[in-house]
Amino acid sequence: MRLSQYFLPVLKETPADATIASHRFMLRAGMVKQDSAGIYIWLPLGYKVLRKIEQIVREEQNKIGAVEMLMPTIQSANHWKETGRYDAYGPEMLRITDRGDRELLYGPTNEDMITDMFRSYVRSYKDLPQNLYHIQWKFRDERRPRFGVMRGREFLMKDAYSFDISPEAARVSYNKHFVAYLNTYARMGLKAVPMRADTGPIGGDLSHEFLILAETGESEVFCHKDLVDMPPPGVVDTDAGRQAVFDERTALYAATDEMHDAEAFAKLPADKQLSARGIEVGHIFYFGDKYSKPMNAVVAGPDGKDHPVMMGSYGVGVSRLVGGIIEASHDDDGIIWPKAVAPFGAGIINLKTGDEAADAACEDLYAKLTAAGIDPLYDDKDDRGGQKFARMDLIGLPYQIVVGPRGLKNGVVEVKTRATGEKQEMTPDAAIAFIMAEFE
Ligand code: ATP
Ligand code: MG
Repeated sequence: MRLSQYFLPVLKETPADATIASHRFMLRAGMVKQDSAGIYIWLPLGYKVLRKIEQIVREEQNKIGAVEMLMPTIQSANHWKETGRYDAYGPEMLRITDRGDRELLYGPTNEDMITDMFRSYVRSYKDLPQNLYHIQWKFRDERRPRFGVMRGREFLMKDAYSFDISPEAARVSYNKHFVAYLNTYARMGLKAVPMRADTGPIGGDLSHEFLILAETGESEVFCHKDLVDMPPPGVVDTDAGRQAVFDERTALYAATDEMHDAEAFAKLPADKQLSARGIEVGHIFYFGDKYSKPMNAVVAGPDGKDHPVMMGSYGVGVSRLVGGIIEASHDDDGIIWPKAVAPFGAGIINLKTGDEAADAACEDLYAKLTAAGIDPLYDDKDDRGGQKFARMDLIGLPYQIVVGPRGLKNGVVEVKTRATGEKQEMTPDAAIAFIMAEFE
């Protein structure tokens, strides 16, 4: 992409209402624009990152055999009345009446709808397990939308739903998601810790939240220090293997404040007691027949009798992750994107547009990096060098190639690694090889 043809409305001033780094940088880097409280326009740069995060979530869901579908944003109130949640959900639910006076709502989650869908088709345990997911916008009329996309009112979530014949079988589904989540966050460069959590309005009796530690997090968390740096499990393809991962991660103390047991925590060695703040980036639940029973979603078991299907649900905050990743990875100058979610792989800065040698070298770099799949952003605008450097640091691409007439006289360009600030001079071809190797 050539910057002269892109839409990147970078702001010089820090917007006054943005109190945390991710919110500030997302506004300044032209990633999002607030349209009304908690509702955002995703500008091109922000949308690119959102799609990359979504794709990682999708790939990890597919790896555990979950099947993608799409449910609508607008739901009938009937499903929610059947489960008793229409009244229970309260003012966070955006309720809508259509021209025929039918009650609708903008979905805050989809358990009720998918249980209704399931019972229309599935009658026998032989068709289980089922594991379905979608990535869809949700609306929750939050009391206090804040921190930009981190606590929005409209937000993008991946939500999966599992259906099994027994609680034991449902545990297998739960563990699949548990492992998938560890791998999902690690691919985004995040250290997410699973913690025992309260089940809230979703209900049920087994639940873990996945949190990344950050001073600006809204949750208070307590955990054993060793959990934070545990590497992701990678591919685990047996039920026993997944149970072992679950057992290993849950053997050490980790809880959100609602589930915190101060006495148990105090028994940890003093240097292992970590009390910190965290951002909730995912939440998984096992809730058995909480929805299937009132909705009479039953399947015939091997015994020939009807059993309510045993369910779980599994959420990832896709749009919250955009902010969460920035909270975890930035400096005073701007964002530092992990390679896997960066909107562009590298930036090319032309220090003197109009200079024949500089233009030619930049065009050549641009063509070669594009062909190599690096997806470069070429700053071909006629701005001052200082402005170009600041803008490129702000938007946080992993690598920058700075091209100027002076360097070119000696046959070199400068490559800057955004994360470390390290600068190296090399030939343009060496710069391409260097960046390609970094992305392998
Ligand atoms: P929170 O405790 O932060 O309000 P929740 O427990 O109500 O979240 P869940 O129902 O577990 O949220 O939703 C699954 C995921 O969706 C959460 O883990 C979070 O990452 C994301 N999420 C929830 N509410 C919001 C919101 N208002 N804005 C952005 N993301 C959200
Ligand atoms: Mg939650």
